[in-house]
Amino acid sequence: MRICGWVIRRKTIGKIVILEISGDTSSKPHVIALKKEREPELFELARDLPVGTALCFEGELAPVQKSRRGVEYIAKEIKIYSRPLEPLPVDTIGKVPALLDTRIRYRYLLLRNPAEKAIFKIRESILRAAREYFIKNGFMEIQTPKIVAAGAEGGATLFPVKYFEYNAYLSQSPQLYKQMLMSSVPRVYEITPYFRAEKFDTPRHLNESWGIDAEIGFIESEEDVMNVLENLIAYIVDYIRKNNVEELEILGVELKPLTVPFKRITFKEAVDILSSEGVEIPEGEDLTEAAEKKLGEIMASKGYDIFFITRFPWEATGFYYMRNEDGTTRKFDLDYKGLELSSGGQREHRYEKLVEALRDKGLNPEGFKFYLEAFKYGMPPHGGFGLGVERLLVKLLGLSNVREAILFVRDRNRLIP
Ligand code: ATP
Ligand code: MG
Repeated sequence: MRICGWVIRRKTIGKIVILEISGDTSSKPHVIALKKEREPELFELARDLPVGTALCFEGELAPVQKSRRGVEYIAKEIKIYSRPLEPLPVDTIGKVPALLDTRIRYRYLLLRNPAEKAIFKIRESILRAAREYFIKNGFMEIQTPKIVAAGAEGGATLFPVKYFEYNAYLSQSPQLYKQMLMSSVPRVYEITPYFRAEKFDTPRHLNESWGIDAEIGFIESEEDVMNVLENLIAYIVDYIRKNNVEELEILGVELKPLTVPFKRITFKEAVDILSSEGVEIPEGEDLTEAAEKKLGEIMASKGYDIFFITRFPWEATGFYYMRNEDGTTRKFDLDYKGLELSSGGQREHRYEKLVEALRDKGLNPEGFKFYLEAFKYGMPPHGGFGLGVERLLVKLLGLSNVREAILFVRDRNRLIP
């Protein structure tokens, strides 16, 4: 068996050198013990091998597994491919915890550390599970443009791009495009970056983040959309519990299965709950970050870590959500312990009402002509959601910052690496 990777730890105990190698076949390191008596040449070679060396070894599983840190092998041959030019700037075994800033800067190197790698293996599982779920449920995977002429949420958070002689933007959401496709493909999903020019620096915002977006046609209400979303998340959790046993163990995370349906409360109920705890939300305003956090604590104390907030007020939503008679909308949020993981809802599919909604939000329907057109040719009732990949990962693993959940960070202060 040939295994390749990097030395992350070297330990000499008398006449034995133990190498821990971070490779690709498992998250835990591969361990080889080289005995002076048994394999004198390899012992000599390994004795002063620096941490960071890239090598492959030929070997077989050790009959007796003594190491608790990884799977142990008996090496027959070692081939060195590359030695580090200088000592590594970070500790790849993770004994010395690195500051977040250092972790971000040297993420490519820290992925040799089993704990860092485990996070990204689980991130990969989220996306694999999502794809699996959508395929099983008859969704078509789509890709929509990332260079666009108009944003779904309005101007302030758009990154401008020079597009020949036109003004364009980086897409902040596939919203408009996935809705347009509802006029021909009733179930679509996209795994997509969101570009948002939000200037603030918070543990929950990135300027380039990733979302799992879905849109579903021929629905009766936003309940149908919430159903898909809660089942998707429960499916993702099950998938990780099944496929990432090793990674969860490395991270010391006990991931409990989620039961559907998730708890639902209306926005009004959320406001009342908060008010009874002394947190007032002014009429027509969205929940602040602090209010969201507080609500998360209250709901968690009642046994609901994850819950929907439904029927948002029109003033606090995008123009495209369907309005109810009473001034509420069919928009919902999904919150997990005080953090918004997803927003979604039923959209306005009636052409006239949509034009009216744009005007009511102070937007010019002219700028949305390409989008509005799609509503003229038999647009069915539809709805969908956008689910934040980094935020989901943060909550599932108990991390504290979305910057821990994406390989290369784009935020207010980071454009490299
Ligand atoms: P927030 O109010 O927390 O800034 P939002 O309501 O603007 O988020 P949506 O437009 O609803 O975000 O996007 C759908 C989901 O994508 C969010 O629920 C969140 O999980 C994720 N998301 C959105 N913007 C960001 C961002 N800047 N960084 C990380 N994740 C994000
Ligand atoms: Mg939202």
